[in-house]
Amino acid sequence: MPTLWTRTFFQHAAVLLACLLIGWLYDAPFWGGLVGVGALLVWHLYHLFQLEYWLRTGKPGAMPDGNGPWSQVLARIQATKALARQNRRSWVRLVEEISASTKAFPDGGVIVNKDFEIVRSNKAARQMLGLKKKRDRGTRIDNLIRHPEFVGYLKGSAKKTKRESVEIPSPLGSDAWLSCRILPYGFDQQLLLVRDITQRVMTERMRRDFVANASHELRSPLTVITGYLDVMSDDQGLPEQWRAPVADMHAQAERMGALIRDLLTLSKLESSESCSHDHRVDIPAILQIARKDALLESAGSQNIELDIDSTHGVLGEATELQSVVSNLVTNAVRYTPAEGSVTIGWRTDKNGGYLTVADTGIGIPADEIPRLTERFYRTDAGRVRQKGGTGLGLAIVKHALKHHDADLEIASEVGKGSRFICHFPADRLAAS
Ligand code: ADP
Repeated sequence: MPTLWTRTFFQHAAVLLACLLIGWLYDAPFWGGLVGVGALLVWHLYHLFQLEYWLRTGKPGAMPDGNGPWSQVLARIQATKALARQNRRSWVRLVEEISASTKAFPDGGVIVNKDFEIVRSNKAARQMLGLKKKRDRGTRIDNLIRHPEFVGYLKGSAKKTKRESVEIPSPLGSDAWLSCRILPYGFDQQLLLVRDITQRVMTERMRRDFVANASHELRSPLTVITGYLDVMSDDQGLPEQWRAPVADMHAQAERMGALIRDLLTLSKLESSESCSHDHRVDIPAILQIARKDALLESAGSQNIELDIDSTHGVLGEATELQSVVSNLVTNAVRYTPAEGSVTIGWRTDKNGGYLTVADTGIGIPADEIPRLTERFYRTDAGRVRQKGGTGLGLAIVKHALKHHDADLEIASEVGKGSRFICHFPADRLAAS
């Protein structure tokens, strides 16, 4: 403020002049000036000392009085301190609100550092995972939750794989199920989100059990019906007007049989997680057989080729892998017109194995590709050409691949053809 500093300048100049004048009267102007400068210095030092003492002891009400420029400086410091106090109060309020809302949050949250050591957790997470606030701080989360799926997921998330979340049974040993998801958080930290999904898992289990039981119960009566229809179809004495309806009933009964078989296969696949690494399945041999079956099915109307570039096998279940190959190859033949071609391929590299079934068939619209592995989902073109398919083939493929920790990738262009690629991880491969 210029007026303050002008006034201050004149006040200091007046003191010095007065001292010089008094010194001059006593014939010692130098000493008079020195006394003046000394007096001003002492005055400033006194105020500085008071200010430092007040800042050190920090009592808000005990602000020293000052005059001249010091009154201004002190008033400014006072205002800044008051503002800081107000800001601090609003920050504290904000932190309290956030902490209250995380307490009320039904989902669990655990902040872990880059080594997965627990930094902080909310009440819901502690209840769901059985953590203790003080005891477990600094402990690695995978030392407390040792479920192999969870540990694998954490390691995967560290390597930034595509898997979004993992579902594990409650580490507390109850019937509860939890969904765990890890997200990058803050600087070099990660946030583990935990949700109770017991209700959904139970409903899913009930649905699966119901479908499995119903399919199982339908199998016996259907066997009897199919048996009678077999006999009737072969009966030469069957009246002519009954021949067509019986053949129709026979075909529909066969279709129902295929549906029930697929439903049972699917529910068996859904009821278990990953399959063991104990058996080596000879993929090139399976592909050779699949080609022979496809040639029979297409009755020579299509060109069916093998492109095998590796002798590696896959560690897993032979029947499940046969089912994957036969579903993909049957579809390729079914949805490829005569004169088209189907190529069945197998190759491996350091990232794993790639089983490919490619065709030059009708193709699939891009927006329908994500839905193909849903049960009973068919594209419009697929619906027209049903030809005995159950609509469960790709759902079975997806689940069988999941058992082998493998992914299904689908690339297709309408009118040009489709390519189904099953990617097996490297640890599922076995050299011959
Ligand atoms: P479906 O028994 O009907 O073949 P899937 O589950 O095997 O049942 O396949 C689901 C749908 O995906 C099919 O109905 C069809 O519309 C489409 N589809 C599958 N494979 C192919 C393919 N190779 N070319 C074109 N469409 C395909």
